[in-house]
This record gives sequence, C-alpha cells and structure tokens, in this order.
Amino acid sequence: MAVIVLVEHTEGNIKKKSFEAVQYAANIAQKTGTGVTAVVLGTVAEAEMTALGQYGAQKVLHVADARLDELHARAYASALMTAIQKEDSKVIVTLHDINGRAVAPRLAVKLKAGLVAGALSYPDMANGFVIKKAVFSGKAFAFVNITSDVKVISVMPNTFPLQSIDGKATIEKLEVTFGDKDFGIKVKEVNKVKGEVSLADAELVVSGGRGMKGPENWGLIEDLAKEMGAATACSRPVADADWRPHHEHVGQTGGTIRPNLYVAVGISGAIQHLAGVNGSKTIVVINKDPEAPFFKAANYGVIGDAMEVLPRLTEAVKRFKETHK
Ligand SMILES: Cc1cc2nc3c(=O)[nH]c(=O)nc-3n(C[C@H](O)[C@H](O)[C@H](O)COP(=O)(O)OP(=O)(O)OC[C@H]3O[C@@H](n4cnc5c(N)ncnc54)[C@H](O)[C@@H]3O)c2cc1C
Repeated sequence: MAVIVLVEHTEGNIKKKSFEAVQYAANIAQKTGTGVTAVVLGTVAEAEMTALGQYGAQKVLHVADARLDELHARAYASALMTAIQKEDSKVIVTLHDINGRAVAPRLAVKLKAGLVAGALSYPDMANGFVIKKAVFSGKAFAFVNITSDVKVISVMPNTFPLQSIDGKATIEKLEVTFGDKDFGIKVKEVNKVKGEVSLADAELVVSGGRGMKGPENWGLIEDLAKEMGAATACSRPVADADWRPHHEHVGQTGGTIRPNLYVAVGISGAIQHLAGVNGSKTIVVINKDPEAPFFKAANYGVIGDAMEVLPRLTEAVKRFKETHK
C-alpha cells in the first residue's frame, strides 16, 4: 500500500525538486501508516537512488531502460501503472512540471482517480483529503477534497522546504511490458539550455521586460545575475521579439518558478506574467512608473530607470560580497 512517487533526473542526477516530491509522499505515508516507494526511470547510479532514503523513501523501483532517459509520457505512465499494481498503491505523487503535467493526468484517467494538479499544501486529513492549490492564474486558492479511493497529486516545485533524515532506500529492478504506442513520439532533437544557473531550480532570478528597450541592454541584467549567482528570465513579449530565448519566458504561457528572490526589471506586472512568478518568496520590482501594477505584488520596489538602477545595484552587490567574504 506504499505511496508511489515519480522521481526525475537529468543525465542520471536526481533533481532537487524530486526530493520535495519524495518528502511530500513521506508526509502522506506517515499520516496513513504506509511507506514510500520511489519510481526511477532510465539510467541512474545506485548511490543516487539509495540517497532518496534521506527524504523518506524506503524503496526504489528502478526501470533501467535507457529509452526512459527522455520523457515519453505514455511509457512513463505504463511504468508507473506497473509499479502501482505491484505496490497496491492508493496515492500517487508527481511533480507539477513538464513531466508530471504529462504523466499525472494520464494516471488519473487510467486509475479513475481524483487529481490535484499543483498542490501547495500537504493533505489535511482531518476532514477528508483536502489540498490547497492556486486557481485563476494565482489570483485565488482552492481547497480541493479528493474523494476517490485512489488519489493522484502533482506537487508544485519549490514549495516545501527540504529536511533530510538518516535513511537509505533499497533498490529493486522493475520489469515493465510497454505497449506498442508507448514510444510513439520520437524526440528528434534536444537543445540543451546553456547558462550557469538553471532557471527551474534557481533560488535567485533576475528577470527583464520590455522596459529594457532591447537585447543590447541585456548585459545589465546578466551582470547583476552573475554577481548574485542568479538565473535570468524574461517576460513573454521579450521572448516573442527574440530578445531572449523562449525557455526564459515565465508566466501563464511560459515557465512557473518559485525562487526565494525574483527581481523584476522593466516588467509591468500583467496578470499573465504574475501567474508564473507570484509564488516567489520575495519580489523586488524595478520600474520607472510608480503606477506599474507589479508594485502591488512586490515586497520591495525601486522607482527608477533600469539603465541607471541596474549598474548601481550590481556595484552594491559586488561591494557587499567583498566586505562579507
Ligand atoms: C493569453 C495570454 C497569455 C500571456 N502569457 C504571458 C506570459 O506567460 N508571460 C508574460 O510575461 N506575459 C504574458 N502575456 C502578456 C502580458 O499580458 C503582458 O503583455 C506582458 O507580460 C507585458 O510584458 P512587459 O511587462 O515586459 O512589457 P510592458 O507591459 O510593455 O511593460 C514594460 C514596463 O517597463 C517599464 N519601463 C519602461 N522603461 C523603463 C525603464 N527605462 N526602466 C524601468 N522600467 C521601465 C514600464 O513602466 C512598464 O511597466 C500573455 C498575454 C495573453 C493575452
């Protein structure tokens, strides 16, 4: 009856956000008196998998098929179904990211299960199985009670602070019989995102909007990001105009991030942009218009011209680092 959790990796390295998913599953397991079985798909070293015990997994079911190194949503769902049947699981946890968003609904349909997509809280089991999630692009919250016997939950990354424990998971190989269509979609090309800090996992993000005027000014954003050890992001019109690559675009139609610090420069703060960033722990807005809507969502604001504020901020960060070595 273990809680099943899908664990993700990049080139064999388990993603930090997957530890959150495992910890989330462990919370449910503790409340329901069950255990946690993590499902790892593709090529991952044993030491990486046993370390999942530090976040509450007792067991790893490993499907060592190299085709699963890339996302194949149908194949992932088939592998998870095999694991779910083996463990007789009633609760399945994934991340609410590209992989989880593709896999969780497929599982919910196959299992006739209720699904909460983008969980922001651990389930409250005092009155059912109630989970908080954001709705209307983050403008409101819904508290959803999953009443079905089997429950599927995709967890919003960067929501639950990690706390490691002593523990080692055991590893078991899982054989899966895949269907004809499981690998029906062929990935023809993978363009790896270059950059020192991955946006999805970044704790600090510096982001630019149309107020930056053009790509020739992006050095100012990059200089500050480099000094802070931050990733860079942008608003949608910036990516649409090819000032920045599309993988940096955040918002309703782009990535959803929840860093500890989001610095928004020359971004108006339209609801569609906020949808991707309003889970950030602290928001700093730099905008020359004191009426810019983003100030309403900000913890700190600087009213000023980005071209003047950014170099001074970068200098200040540099000085701070020098005096706090
Ligand atoms: C269906 C739909 C989906 C969308 N999805 C997204 C999405 O995912 N992400 C997204 O970002 N947008 C999205 N949008 C677009 C969104 O509505 C806004 O148009 C967009 O976010 C505005 O981008 P911006 O703030 O960079 O530009 P603008 O709205 O043009 O704002 C520029 C800001 O820069 C300030 N500024 C100008 N010059 C300076 C300066 N020198 N120094 C400091 N500040 C300055 C201005 O005061 C202004 O506030 C979507 C829209 C629709 C309809």
